[in-house]
Amino acid sequence: TARRLDGIPPTIFSQMSALAVATGAVNLGQGFPDVDGPERIIEEAVSALHDGRNQYAPGPGIPALREAVAAHQQRHYDLTFDPAREVAVTTGATEGIATAILALVDPGDEVILVEPYYDSYPAMVQFAGGVRRPVTLSLDASAEGGRLPREALEAAASEKSKMLLLNSPHNPTGTVLTREELETVATFARDHDLVVVSDEVYEHLTFDGTDHIPIATLPGMRERTLTLSSIGKSFSFTGWKVGWATGPEHLVQALLGAKQWMTFTSGAPLQPAAAYALDHLDRWPKELALDLQERRDLLCDGLKQIGLDVTIPEGTYFAVSDISDLGWRDGLEFCEALPDRAGVVAIPLQGFYDSDAGKHLVRWTFTKQRDVIEEALDRLARGT
Ligand code: PMP
Ligand code: GLN
Repeated sequence: TARRLDGIPPTIFSQMSALAVATGAVNLGQGFPDVDGPERIIEEAVSALHDGRNQYAPGPGIPALREAVAAHQQRHYDLTFDPAREVAVTTGATEGIATAILALVDPGDEVILVEPYYDSYPAMVQFAGGVRRPVTLSLDASAEGGRLPREALEAAASEKSKMLLLNSPHNPTGTVLTREELETVATFARDHDLVVVSDEVYEHLTFDGTDHIPIATLPGMRERTLTLSSIGKSFSFTGWKVGWATGPEHLVQALLGAKQWMTFTSGAPLQPAAAYALDHLDRWPKELALDLQERRDLLCDGLKQIGLDVTIPEGTYFAVSDISDLGWRDGLEFCEALPDRAGVVAIPLQGFYDSDAGKHLVRWTFTKQRDVIEEALDRLARGT
C-alpha cells in the first residue's frame, strides 16, 4: 500500500460491528439508529427513482437541495448563503471533511484538531500530507477557561498552522461547546488566521434545552469557516450519505475543486428527498432529540446503577465512561473482552487520541430502541 496509508488502522467502527455480529452481542458501538427516519422522506426518494432522477446531478448538487440547505442555515442560525456559490452537496459529511482538507491543506501544513477526534480527520490530514496537532478536550464542563482553553489551543499552534477542525456537538464525548468556549476558539482562529472546518452533523441532536451554536455565527468567523452537515443524523438515514458544506465562496469553491475529482457529483435520487426533508420536516430532528434524550437517560441511569462512571452528554448519540477503576489495562482490552463477558459491544476511545488521556475511556451509543438498551444494561449488570 501507499505510504499515505501507513499507520492508519482499519476503522474501529467496522472492527467492533463485526465483533458484535460474530458474537451476537448487543451493539452499542457504531452509532446508527435501529429505526429509520420518516416514511414520507423515503417516499420522496422512491418517487425520485421512478421519476427519472437517475442521471448525474450537477457537481455542486441539485439546486433544490442547495436552496433547502441555504434556507435551513438562514432559518436556524440567521446565516445567509448564496445557494449558487456558497453551498455544495457532498457524499455525506465524510466527503465534505475529505475534500475540505484535500483542497486546503498543503504538505507540511499543520491542522489543529480536538482529541478525541473523529477517525476520518487524522486519516485525511495524512492523505493531504499535513501534520495533525491535537488539543485535548476536557470532559469537565466547569473546567477553568472552558473545555478548550486558550493555553491548550496556543500550545498546538505554530507558524505552520493552517486549519482548525472543530466538531460540536462532539462525537464521541457528547460535548456541546458553549458560546464562551466557541468565542475562545474563534478568537484563537482569527489571531492565527486559520480556516475552520466545523463538523456539525449532530447540530439538532442536543438535550436539556442546550443550543447548538455554529461557530460561523461568531464575529469574523463566517468568512473563514466551512460548515459541514448531513442528512444522516438529523433524519436517521445514516446510510444515505447526503451531506453539504456552506461557507464563503472561496472556501466552498475550493472544496468543489477537490470534489470534482473525487466523486464528480453525489448520488442524484436521494438529493430531492433530502431537500424535501429540510423544507418540510423542520421539526422532526428536534422531536428525535427529545426521544433520544429519554434513551440517553435510560442508558446513563442504568450505567450508574451498575456502578459504572458516565459523563452525561449534552448532545449526539453517545455517552462516555471512564473504566480506570475496573482493573483493565486499557479501554481496548475492556472492549475486546466485553462481548464474551457480557454480550455487549462498546467503542474504546484511545485510538481517537494522540495523548494517553483517552486510555481508559469507552463510548456507548444510545441511538437504539429502549428494549435494546435495557437488554444491554441487564447483560452489563450480570457481566461486568
Ligand atoms: N462527522 C462525525 C463527527 C460523525 O459522527 C459522522 C458520522 N459517522 C460523520 C462526520 C459522517 O457523516 P456522514 O455519514 O454524513 O458522512
Ligand atoms: N458516526 C458513527 C460513529 O461514530 C459511525 C461511524 C462510522 O461508521 N464510520 O459511530
